[in-house]
Amino acid sequence: MNQNSKPKLAMYWASSCGGCEISTLNIGENILAVDELFEIAFFPCIADFKVKDVEGYPDGYIDVCLFNGAIRNSDNQEMAELLRRKSKVLVAFGACAHQGSIPALSNLTSRAATLETVYLDNPTLDNPQGILPNTQYEADEGLLELPTFFNTVRSLGQVVPVDYTIPGCPPEPHQIWTVLQAVAAALLQGAELPPAGSIIGAGTVAVCKECTREKEEKQIGRYYRPFEIVPDPERCLLSQGIICMGAATRSGCGALCPQVGIGCRGCYGPPDGVDDQGAAMISALASVMDTTYPTDNGNSLEQQIDTLIDTLADPAGTFYRFSLANAVLGRARQPASPVHK
Ligand code: SF4
Repeated sequence: MNQNSKPKLAMYWASSCGGCEISTLNIGENILAVDELFEIAFFPCIADFKVKDVEGYPDGYIDVCLFNGAIRNSDNQEMAELLRRKSKVLVAFGACAHQGSIPALSNLTSRAATLETVYLDNPTLDNPQGILPNTQYEADEGLLELPTFFNTVRSLGQVVPVDYTIPGCPPEPHQIWTVLQAVAAALLQGAELPPAGSIIGAGTVAVCKECTREKEEKQIGRYYRPFEIVPDPERCLLSQGIICMGAATRSGCGALCPQVGIGCRGCYGPPDGVDDQGAAMISALASVMDTTYPTDNGNSLEQQIDTLIDTLADPAGTFYRFSLANAVLGRARQPASPVHK
């Protein structure tokens, strides 16, 4: 196929771990077909592209851009705006671009507290003068600049309009390949794309629907952390007191984590019809509390509920691990801090 007739594909990472790129490369030998189907216009992870290459493209030059990573700093935001302008179709790719994911857990604290922990108050530091990063530094060679570190981490869709979302931490390779084939067919043969705003490369229902573990009436008297219990290999993990986000998480992964005895962490985000994944999960757990437990120690119902909740480690980090940026609350209130307002 002539290079000029191929649709142009870009992939970029903002604040992310690189897992989305690895998952994309994990489509195996199909990666050769990607090279057949698309002209790679920008993909810094695998080839030496520069930002000025993208800046030189006409607006809308890139047919489809897979953008992974959250918006943590000013560089992430500038790249999101640039790639939005240069791309006909912009896809929020992976959990960080979708709902903030792990980077957005820092919305539970503040920019100032994060800098303090990283640069001032850490047993592995040697920073007696308490130097914090500057966004500008006058070196002999000229002015050096660093991106501005934002106070609040945002998802891609909170910064620029997004056409589609492929969820997951990371998205599953078979889903990525399916989406790339569909996009190529749409661009080359005029096949229809899903309506703008769709979640693609995933299911619509909850992970519980695709999980093959035995479901049963639940009455949970305490929660267990993974090291505290060896789960029954057949029964629903949540029934056994192991936190599993399957009821509040979009299907599409094949329930991979529950199948190997690890509770779903929620990386595909909420299913259709659910806005706030954490709130949905809290509501689900509230409905399966064993309020008759314990019966023989004279505790009031309120004490029983407190005892149960006390066995739940890190509720915010558990229920909003992948979705805090897009949650109704979005971030914690700002604690006062001595550095960097
Ligand atoms: Fe749902 Fe998790 Fe139970 Fe499977 S193990 S049925 S995903 S709660």
